[in-house]
Amino acid sequence: MDCLFCKIAAGEIPSTKVYEDEYVYGFKDIAPIAPVHYLIIPKEHISGASEITADNSALVAKVFEAAAKIAKSEGLESGFRVITNCGDDAGQTVKHLHFHLLAGVKMGWGSEAVCPVE
Ligand code: 5GP
Ligand code: ZN
Repeated sequence: MDCLFCKIAAGEIPSTKVYEDEYVYGFKDIAPIAPVHYLIIPKEHISGASEITADNSALVAKVFEAAAKIAKSEGLESGFRVITNCGDDAGQTVKHLHFHLLAGVKMGWGSEAVCPVE
């Protein structure tokens, strides 16, 4: 399958790893939008949040377990945000389920921060 994040998880395309276990791979985003910007992905290909089912949802729990471990190991005591974009309106550009972990800055919350519209 020609999937960028499958190739990154398999080590076929280089990335800066921040976490790895049997199920999950975490790495630095190539174009960070915050001082800390990691991507956490299930190693198994799932195209996006709309394709989460009873059969694969345990992987989402693994992603959040990884997020908590990363937050501890990276010293993100003051907080972090986890986001997944699904589909074109949300701006999903890579069709392999991924969760952005953002930290290192005080983040806003409101229409401008989470829901930009034209
Ligand atoms: P999306 O827009 O789909 O929610 O997020 C995709 C993310 O993947 C973007 O933040 C983008 O910067 C990141 N990205 C795209 N290509 C690469 C790559 O080759 N390596 C890494 N580390 N990140 C990438
Ligand atoms: Zn994939």
